[in-house]
Amino acid sequence: MTPLLAARGVRKSFGGVEVLHGVDLDAAAGSIVALLGENGAGKSTLVKILAGDYTPDAGEIAIGGERYSQLTPISARAAGVRMIHQEFQDAPTLTVAENISLGRLPSRSGLVRWREVRERAETVLAQMGVTLSPSAPVGKLRVGERQVVEIARALSDEARVLILDEPTAALSQQEVDRLFAFLRRLRDQGTAIIYITHRLDEVHAISDRVQVLRDGSVAAEGKTEDFDRARLVEAMIGRAAAALSRPPAPTWPLGETPALELSAASAEPAFRNVTLAVRPGEIVALYGKLGAGSAEVAETVFGLRKLTSGTLAVGGKPGTARGPAASISRGVGFVPADRKREAILPVRPVAENVAASSWRRLAKLGWLISRRSEAAAYKRWHDALSIRSRNDPLQPIITLSGGNQQKVVLARWLERGSPLLVMIEPTRGVDVGARAELYASMRELASDGVAMLISTSDYEEVVQVADRALVMARGDVVVELAGDEITTSRLLTEAGG
Ligand code: ADP
Ligand code: MG
Repeated sequence: MTPLLAARGVRKSFGGVEVLHGVDLDAAAGSIVALLGENGAGKSTLVKILAGDYTPDAGEIAIGGERYSQLTPISARAAGVRMIHQEFQDAPTLTVAENISLGRLPSRSGLVRWREVRERAETVLAQMGVTLSPSAPVGKLRVGERQVVEIARALSDEARVLILDEPTAALSQQEVDRLFAFLRRLRDQGTAIIYITHRLDEVHAISDRVQVLRDGSVAAEGKTEDFDRARLVEAMIGRAAAALSRPPAPTWPLGETPALELSAASAEPAFRNVTLAVRPGEIVALYGKLGAGSAEVAETVFGLRKLTSGTLAVGGKPGTARGPAASISRGVGFVPADRKREAILPVRPVAENVAASSWRRLAKLGWLISRRSEAAAYKRWHDALSIRSRNDPLQPIITLSGGNQQKVVLARWLERGSPLLVMIEPTRGVDVGARAELYASMRELASDGVAMLISTSDYEEVVQVADRALVMARGDVVVELAGDEITTSRLLTEAGG
């Protein structure tokens, strides 16, 4: 049978570096292919070419028998390709209903038919079995809910080929289950689905076929049932497995008094019986899949959740903080997973973003001086963290790349002098090259005595940055690993299928 979508020999370079070396991909009607690969393997680039967002340097794409040497967003859309991007493409100030009809608002004689916009939203949300108000502004929704809106937009637009680029990174387990239920239904109605993930457990749950990309080439392809976990891991990481480099062990002395100490700490039902200490100069990772409890531990340390039993101490002082304000004054800095929504002031200058948590101190001398001290603070961290920007304190932060935005958020807490930084998914949406730089900045800060607790679902991140790692599954700490025990295969095995 000819696949609904067939890509042949797709090549793509960025700035003279080829990142796709002649890749084939087939997606059949009524089937789900999982596109797998490590960060940077080329998954997003490949599907952006299929959606017409990028022009390939070579290759051919056939959709429903029609051949294209290059697609445009318009021709891809006309051919029935719909994509749900890794980064949100929604319009935060518009409502759920408006977002669902974004780019194809129904109109007659130049007037938008708002009732139709609303009905279209109600219909698709009902089909999906979700209760979201069509009139809610999307910017006010949780990450998982925004994802639902993006999916609703693709569904209401009758995709023939639906592409999802790592859609579950921000979803709760319940939301993932619901997403999988929709996808199966769509598949059974004949949609061809390309599902990008780097979560192995999802592959068997959802896909009929798998294709693994490694360094811009196809490393393996076949029926999902023929690939067990070990074979997938091998195809994904190949010989490069051992090459993921560990940071050298700290050469600096660790502080005596732990910056953070948890003892038999539980916040039911999210996690239980967590015992850990993070000393000044140390980076400790909590590694777990979504719903494993690791993000919830981090949130608890920042005072966003309450312990149901056990104890927590910051800088040797016991007691749970009552809310973020109390945590900040205890010296805890927090870098949340959803940077765009919770951490940055997107259209404000970078300098203001750095100063945001130190305003009271910087503003002591009045507005003018505060602008000047903001700028000075920004310059200092620009240099210390190698923030790639125009080095202009007034540059809006949203114009920086993800990795550099994240450095600005880090700078905010460093400017405040927080001795303990708690981060959730610190490199989510940050590209591979910038990740390495961010890790280097984090190690540098550790050498200056900053303590860091990172919650992450990215095992590579753990390997590359953590001195110690606690692996979590279903709310429990499964094992604690230190130094060279922290390897990709060990993390994947301990976190379970
Ligand atoms: P994946 O989605 O598998 O993580 P990507 O397709 O995002 O991988 O990236 C593949 C490679 O291409 C990476 O090395 C990445 O840095 C590079 N890359 C992706 N998009 C761009 C871009 N717009 N400009 C320059 N390099 C890019
Ligand atoms: Mg990607």
